[in-house]
Amino acid sequence: DDDRIINLKLGDPMVYERYWQQMGHMTTMVIPGWQSLSYFSDNNNDLCWFLEPELAKEIVRVHTVVGNAVTKDRYIVVGTGSTQLYQAALYALSPHDDSGPINVVSAAPYYCSYPLITDCLRSGLYRWGGDAKTYKEEGPFIELVTSPNNPDGFLRESVVNRSDGILIHDLAYYWPQYMPITSIADHDVMLFTASKSTGHAGMRIGWALVKDKETARKMTEYIELNTIGVSKVSQLRVAKVLKAVTDSCGNETAKSFFEHSYDEMSERWKLLKQASKTSKGFTVPDFVPQRCNFLGKVFEPQPAFAWLKCEEGIVDCEKFLREKKNILTKSGKYFGDNLSYVRVSMLDTDSNFNIFIHRISSSFDSTL
Ligand code: PMP
Repeated sequence: DDDRIINLKLGDPMVYERYWQQMGHMTTMVIPGWQSLSYFSDNNNDLCWFLEPELAKEIVRVHTVVGNAVTKDRYIVVGTGSTQLYQAALYALSPHDDSGPINVVSAAPYYCSYPLITDCLRSGLYRWGGDAKTYKEEGPFIELVTSPNNPDGFLRESVVNRSDGILIHDLAYYWPQYMPITSIADHDVMLFTASKSTGHAGMRIGWALVKDKETARKMTEYIELNTIGVSKVSQLRVAKVLKAVTDSCGNETAKSFFEHSYDEMSERWKLLKQASKTSKGFTVPDFVPQRCNFLGKVFEPQPAFAWLKCEEGIVDCEKFLREKKNILTKSGKYFGDNLSYVRVSMLDTDSNFNIFIHRISSSFDSTL
């Protein structure tokens, strides 16, 4: 397998495949051809009219059981992935006067897609403003807080400590398989996604929990303009998956979805840390263990990505892993950091993950 190229650039959540294969019967759906004709989902929801009531119900249920986010008195906006909701939030939170584009910042290392999505249409409403830690400009700005953070896995809070900042919290990874749930998140705009919670990235469903009605209304307006709603079939499938997840949590005799995926991530992080000790060629972040209110035990974060730093005088870690180990990763430069770092997906198939561990356990001699 030495010549096989292993691509760990993206966070494709294939680690969850086995679990969902085993649960096949619980999440299989038959959708008759006469369903999903209407654009509309819920005539009683005068805000997000394309949100399937069944999905709304299951979103509230899963957050209530896990205890990771407040849903009481929140508006739910559904999106085609949290990627669309991020753009909807920018549209909703930017001033629509002639004050010019508002700066959007996030502390480096930040999620590499943020700058690209923010600037792809060169909007007159908002523009990428770079690293929040060095942001000095006067006036209003939007700060993105990704917690746990992509790429490095740490819990985060806003770093630009000013009252004129508007916050968007991307909580894609605030689930117990990755991070101890220590408190119930309670922020103005919180983004979640099926891609990282249950592993159903291909269904393209995300949801926002929004405190302010006008913000939720404008986010809905953006989605109306952008795609006139969100696939009903996908919403119904995610509702079914979330139901299976929540139901599994109440079962005393079998492991829940989160216990299963916690075990999976825990095993992978154990192997990665062992490899780091054996090879001495790279390091991974040190995390502090905390007690998880949901799983009822103390553990260290075990993020969906490893933020790996090459040692041994290797300057360009991405190039080294690509040329010497046939492993594709995403360079630190895309996250506002330097070339000695790379982001590696911890969510790929068992086979790819095992080959990755095998290859990085051997020497990191850059002259090889
Ligand atoms: N936010 C973060 C922090 C992510 O890592 C990702 C996926 N890599 C997304 C948002 C996008 O998720 P989705 O598939 O829901 O668009």
